Amino acid sequence: MRQGEVRVVPSGKGVDSRELLKRLAAVMAEPGTGQERLDRIVDVIATSMETEVCSVYLKRDAQTLELCATRGLRPESVHAVRLKVGQGLVGRIAEEVAPINTADAPHEKGFRYLAETGEEVYSAFLGVPIQRLGEVLGVLVVQTAEARQFSEDEVHGLEVVAMVVAEMTELGTFTGPGAMEVAATHRLPFFARGIPAQEGAAMGTVVLHEPNIVAKVPVAEDPEAERERLGAALAALRAEIDGMLDDDLLKTSGEHREVLETYRLLASDRGWLRRMEENIASGLSAILAVEKEQSETRARMERVQDPYLRERLHDLDDLARRLLRHLAGADGPSRDLPEDAILVARNIGPAELLDYGRALKGIVLEEGSVGSHAAIVARALAIPLVIQAARVTREAQNGDLILVDGDEGVAHLRPEENVRRAFEEKLAMRAEAQKAYAALRDLPALTRDGQRVALYMNAGLMADLPSLPHCGAEGVGLYRTELQFLVRSKVPRRGDQAEFYARVLDAARGKRVIFRTLDIGSDKVLPNMKRQDEPNPAMGWRAIRLTLDRRGVMRMQIQALLRGAKGRPLSIMFPFVAQMEEFERGRDMVLGEVAAERALGHTLPETLQIGAMLETPSLAFAPDRFFRITDFISIGGNDLKQFFFAADRENERVRRRYDTLNTSFLDFIAMIIRRCAEHGTPLSFCGEDAGRPVEALALCAVGIRTLSMRPAAIGPVKRLLRAIDLSEARGVIDAARAEGAMSVRPALMRWLREIEAPL
Ligand code: PEP
Ligand code: MG
Repeated sequence: MRQGEVRVVPSGKGVDSRELLKRLAAVMAEPGTGQERLDRIVDVIATSMETEVCSVYLKRDAQTLELCATRGLRPESVHAVRLKVGQGLVGRIAEEVAPINTADAPHEKGFRYLAETGEEVYSAFLGVPIQRLGEVLGVLVVQTAEARQFSEDEVHGLEVVAMVVAEMTELGTFTGPGAMEVAATHRLPFFARGIPAQEGAAMGTVVLHEPNIVAKVPVAEDPEAERERLGAALAALRAEIDGMLDDDLLKTSGEHREVLETYRLLASDRGWLRRMEENIASGLSAILAVEKEQSETRARMERVQDPYLRERLHDLDDLARRLLRHLAGADGPSRDLPEDAILVARNIGPAELLDYGRALKGIVLEEGSVGSHAAIVARALAIPLVIQAARVTREAQNGDLILVDGDEGVAHLRPEENVRRAFEEKLAMRAEAQKAYAALRDLPALTRDGQRVALYMNAGLMADLPSLPHCGAEGVGLYRTELQFLVRSKVPRRGDQAEFYARVLDAARGKRVIFRTLDIGSDKVLPNMKRQDEPNPAMGWRAIRLTLDRRGVMRMQIQALLRGAKGRPLSIMFPFVAQMEEFERGRDMVLGEVAAERALGHTLPETLQIGAMLETPSLAFAPDRFFRITDFISIGGNDLKQFFFAADRENERVRRRYDTLNTSFLDFIAMIIRRCAEHGTPLSFCGEDAGRPVEALALCAVGIRTLSMRPAAIGPVKRLLRAIDLSEARGVIDAARAEGAMSVRPALMRWLREIEAPL
C-alpha cells in the first residue's frame, strides 16, 4: 500500500458484522422500491462502519458499472456516474475481483478523480467486489476523510455485507415497479456466441442442469443452527463420496478412485471447513457461507496458471456445488420439465443427458467439445446443441426465454422482441423444409439421369433407432458400437452386449446394419481402462490397433455380435485399418469365433460379411489381395480427410481450412472407387461429408453410390440428388478441374444456383 504524504492512522476498529447483517435483513423485509432499499442499505452500512461515505456500484452490462446509491457522495451523481471495468479503483476491484484497502486513495494505482461525486475530500477507501459464485455484480465502497487504514476485521465485515447485497441483487430486491434504474444484470438480454455442435433451432424455457441455488434468507438468525445445517450437509456429502468409492467397479479402476480419494480428503479439509464456519460466525446463512468460499475459489481459479492447482481448485468448486445441493435439499435434475425445456449447463455427462432424453428441445453448454460424448448423444437425439457458450450458466435463470441456434452456434437469452420475431420466422421456414423432406421419405434417391444412390444412416445408441423408419434410410451404414460403451459407467458384459445388438437388429426390422467394432483409443476411454498419455491420440493406439492387442475385448464383442444376430444376416466392419495384415488378423478372429460357436452348437448368422473402414491414406494403396478378400469397404471420410490434409478434425484452427471438394481429395476418392470397381468390392462413404448435400453430390458425381449419414441429413441430401443430373454435375467438376481449379466448389455452386437446385 502506498502512503503518499498523508499520515496514516492505523485502525484497530472492528465491525460487528452480525449486528450489521441483522439491520440489513430488516431493510430487506421493509416495503419500498428497489432504490429506496438500496438507499437505506448504504445508510445502514455507513452508520455501522462509522464512515462518511458508503456507495454501491452495480453492473449495467458486462463492462459498465454505475453508481446506484450513495450516502456521502453528491446525490446528483447517482445513476450519472459510470465507470468501465478496469477504470479507476472501483473498476479495478471489479476487474481483479479483489478488495482495495488504502488510507490514501488519490495516490493508489489506477485512482481516477470523479469531479461530479465530490469525493476529493475523502482519503481512506475500502472497496470490495459484490460477487456471487465468481461473477462480479458490482462494487461496494466505504470512504472516510480521515486517512486511516481499515482493519482486517472491517475488510472481512464489508465482504460479508457485499455477499448479502449480491444475494439480494439476485433475489430481485432492488428491482420492481419504478426501479428499473437498478435492474439486475440477469434481466437484460444476453447473447452467447459459441460453437455449433448439433444443427437445428429451438425456442424454449431455460432449465438449469445445476439449479442456481439462491439463499432466500441470506442472513443467519441463529448461527448455531446454521453450523449444524452445514455439519449435516457435510456429513451427507462425505457419505455420497463414500458411496461412490464403494461402487464395485470403481474399486478396480485406479483413475476414478484417485479423484474420489482427493474429494474425500478435500471434504474433510480443516481449512475449508474453518473458513465456512467463520463465514457463519460473521452472520451469514450456511448456504451463503459455502457460496462465499466458492466465490473465492473461483476467483483464485481465474488467477492461477498452474494446471495442477487449477485442477484442485476445480475439485473444490465441484465439492462446494455438491455441498450446496445438500444444503438446499435439491438432488439432481428435476423431473418436472417444462414442455419446451432447453437445458443450460456448464457441461454434462452422456448418461445424465440420456436421462433427460428427448424431453429437451435444445442444449447450451458453457464447455464441451464437438467430439465429446454429450455432443454424440445430442446428435443421436437430434437435439440442437451449442457448446462453448461463455458465461451462459451465470447469465441464465430458470424460466428465462432462450433461443438456441445450433446451425450458427449461438444462443439468445431473454431476447428483444425483434430478435424473437426473426427467430420465429426461421423456425417456421425449418418446419416447411421438414414437411418437404417427409414427403420424399418413401421415394428413392434417384437422380434425373436415372442414377440410384443408396442412403443409409449412422447410429450408435439405442436412442438413434427410432429415426430409422422416419428418415427414409435403407439401413444403418455405420453403427458405432463404442458409443454404447462410452455412455455407461461399466463395461457391458457379453450377455448384455449380445442382447443389445439383438435389440438393434430387431429395431432395424430386416434392414441391413453394419456394426463397427470398437473404435476406442486414448481419447475415447472405456470405463475400466487406464487413460494412456499419448502425444497424438488420433494417430495413436486406437481402434483395431488396440483391439488386436487386447484380444479379450475384441473376442467378447465378436461373440456378442454373432449371438445377438440370432441367425439373422450380420455385417461387421473394422475401424481404422491401415494395412492389409490388420484386416486379415481381425477377420481371422471373427472366423475363429464362428468356428467356436459352431462347435458349441450355437446358431450362426444366416450370412456374414466382414469389411474394413478406409480411414488412412495407406489403405488405398494396399495390395490387390486386400480388395479381393474384404467383403466391403466404407470410407471414413472424417479420419481420411484429416490424415490426407494432415489437419486435425477437432482443431478449430485448421479444421475448415481444407475443402472436401478440393480436387486432390476428390481425385483420391476417385482412385479408391477405381480400385474397388476393379475387384468388385462394394464401397460406401460414411463420414460427416456424406450428410452435406453439396459434398454428397460431388461424391456421387465422382462415383460413390452408397452414402451413410446422420438421419436428419437424409432429407436434404435426397432432395438435392433427385433434383439434379449427375452426369451434368460430373461435367461441371471435370471442367473446373481442367481449368486448374483448386476446389470444384465455386463452379459447382454456380451451376447449382443456375439450375435453381434446392439447397
Ligand atoms: C470417419 O472417420 O469418417 C468415421 C465415420 O468414423 P468416426 O467419425 O467415428 O471416426
Ligand atoms: Mg473414423
